[in-house]
Amino acid sequence: MNISRRDLFKFAGISAAAAAVTGCSTTAFDQLPKTGSKNSAVNSKFGKHQVVIIGGGFGGMTVAKELKKLDSKFDVLIIEKNDSFMSCPFSNCNLGGIEGVSLSTLTHDYAQAIEKNGYSMLTAVVTDIDRENKVVHTSQGVVGYDILVMAPGIDYNYKGQFPTWDAGKIAKAKRMAPAALIPGGEHVALDRLVKNMEDGDVVITVPKGKYRCPPAPFERASMIANFMKKEGIKGKVIILNETAEIAKGAAFKECWKDINAGVVEHMDNCKIVDVDFDKKVITYAQTVFKDKEETEGVTTTKTMSYGVFNLIPHNMSNPVVEMSGVATTPDGFKKVKMATSAEKPVSFQTATDASIYAVGDVVGHAIPPSGQSAIWSGKECAKEIAHALQGKSYSVASSLPYKSANVCYSMVNGNPEEAIMVNHEFMVAGPVIGSKGSVPKGDEAGNKFRSKGLGKATRDWYRGAMSDLFN
Ligand SMILES: Cc1cc2nc3c(=O)[nH]c(=O)nc-3n(C[C@H](O)[C@H](O)[C@H](O)COP(=O)(O)OP(=O)(O)OC[C@H]3O[C@@H](n4cnc5c(N)ncnc54)[C@H](O)[C@@H]3O)c2cc1C
Repeated sequence: MNISRRDLFKFAGISAAAAAVTGCSTTAFDQLPKTGSKNSAVNSKFGKHQVVIIGGGFGGMTVAKELKKLDSKFDVLIIEKNDSFMSCPFSNCNLGGIEGVSLSTLTHDYAQAIEKNGYSMLTAVVTDIDRENKVVHTSQGVVGYDILVMAPGIDYNYKGQFPTWDAGKIAKAKRMAPAALIPGGEHVALDRLVKNMEDGDVVITVPKGKYRCPPAPFERASMIANFMKKEGIKGKVIILNETAEIAKGAAFKECWKDINAGVVEHMDNCKIVDVDFDKKVITYAQTVFKDKEETEGVTTTKTMSYGVFNLIPHNMSNPVVEMSGVATTPDGFKKVKMATSAEKPVSFQTATDASIYAVGDVVGHAIPPSGQSAIWSGKECAKEIAHALQGKSYSVASSLPYKSANVCYSMVNGNPEEAIMVNHEFMVAGPVIGSKGSVPKGDEAGNKFRSKGLGKATRDWYRGAMSDLFN
């Protein structure tokens, strides 16, 4: 029997899927194609691949799928640490007890995406990147690359925010007050805490600085309030915001006033000082300013008891970015600095290394850190890489400005299902991709921000995004 190169790729993808899903040993990956293993540094059973992508999330899966769509012969491998996919988008609807939504709505198996799209996947944790030899070190062995894409998402900076907390206390914070901004078990833990709660208050913190999906904590407050109403649980949802900023602020405030009066309480400029996780007591410092001109304000330290605590710490780029040693922005988040040139004013190539690209929340473009932005970026990044592999050039600027490049919905009510939205246009803004957002008012019930139409659009967007990634 003749096995074509295409069949070989298909077979490799399915083998990888079997390993990813069952978590079985790496022997299944022995069948991964080892193309062009000319690099003597690549002396592993995983060989060398044309394109290696770190991270099987919104950005990474899109790059992989689009590359295979552009040319099915491209040899594309994703390295992903989790053996199944869990969506952060729509997870607040699960916490809100929205009809028909459960943890299984958020969970998907990689086998489907691999089989449909023909790329390969290695279930392993990336531990280091050797740019000189073009290899990625993983918990399962070394993988070589021609082109590397970093799509690893975010990490939490507990250490930076709470310098006096030791490793044990940080582990306790993760266990007892899960942040649930990263795909995986912390969504299951927060679900358990919310679904088993007695009467009492839920406290959600909002970090300062750049963080994943700025509307997410506020949508979460609305949804947990919805769950409490539905289940007859008495208590408040208190948002301790380290700044005074609320993404989609006017729209959320209107919803909290109309739908959750006396239940959702937003508190500005509250810095978490310490937490006693056993006694369930938060110590925080609240600064009150007389007006917008005042810079110092008056700070008072207070305590607050809670029933459920969702401690969302400061965010930063996933450590994979630091492992690569590419240049990053000087802020606490450390986004990847992107390349710019006369020919390609904006790009998903890194400024430091022409063989390394980045997509998703780690990119140093001025675009919102969202799943929708990651999907858009992933498609553009794949076009850049495909052209580079074919010895041609593609400029992302040619597709800009792009209206509705990011459309982000937030569910705010369960009965009836209503949502609000923000719409971003992307454009060239100096050396980076910039964005301009607008929050349209709904068109029902007296021109409120929220509408049932947007509630339906939230479900449709999630279905569409999952179809984009998995079909
Ligand atoms: C509650 C919530 C609600 C949200 N709602 C929306 C929404 O409605 N709409 C929207 O557009 N966006 C939303 N987002 C934002 C969206 O989830 C992120 O912006 C998006 O996931 C970013 O994609 P990414 O590819 O950069 O990262 P991710 O999707 O997080 O993917 C990164 C992947 O890399 C893997 N990885 C990390 N480190 C390693 C390693 N060392 N080795 C191997 N693998 C590794 C991770 O396991 C993960 O699978 C929401 C986020 C949250 C938290």
